[in-house]
Amino acid sequence: MRETVVATVGLGANLGDASATVRAAIAAIATLANTELLRASHLYASAPIDSSGPDYINAVVQVRTALSAPALLAELQTIERAAGRERPYRNAPRTLDLDLLLYGDAHISSPALTVPHPRMQQRAFVLLPLAEIAPTLVDAAALAAVQDQAVHALGSQKLGSDSNLSRQIGI
Ligand code: ATP
Ligand code: CA
Ligand code: CA
Repeated sequence: MRETVVATVGLGANLGDASATVRAAIAAIATLANTELLRASHLYASAPIDSSGPDYINAVVQVRTALSAPALLAELQTIERAAGRERPYRNAPRTLDLDLLLYGDAHISSPALTVPHPRMQQRAFVLLPLAEIAPTLVDAAALAAVQDQAVHALGSQKLGSDSNLSRQIGI
């Protein structure tokens, strides 16, 4: 492998079996060429923001990759398409969304790719899972600023037996 970079990817889904789609996407990322999965957060559930439809399932992963940032984004978009991603309008409900949040400490600004992801600091569904797997990358003030957003961890965390969400996604 040539020189490698630690990249951070945010995952989101709110159509179909969103939880299964996010898990499958993490598995697909783990099998990308010249890329090694380092860490994956638990799954989180979040209410849609500026959007509609069911709650989102979110996660954040870190990979070590020899792919360039545009090449990694292209691979992520291939995984999105395989999951049936369509873009009928901005912030539409989606089967799978993969955002390149960070690519090492690179700052990239091209028409197709902006890194760090320009809206990540305003999103609890990004910052909470990111804080779980890479706490040094998350600013405490940024986390405090998004604490009113409805996001909670799923998976190994216990959900109340009367939780609609827990019934909905079968965890
Ligand atoms: P948001 O960017 O606010 O999370 P979104 O994920 O719904 O919105 P998309 O429709 O998935 O937006 O992506 C629109 C375009 O954003 C893509 O075609 C892609 O080229 C571009 N883009 C720019 N920077 C990034 C990035 N860091 N990660 C993913 N896509 C990016
Ligand atoms: Ca997004
Ligand atoms: Ca996206």
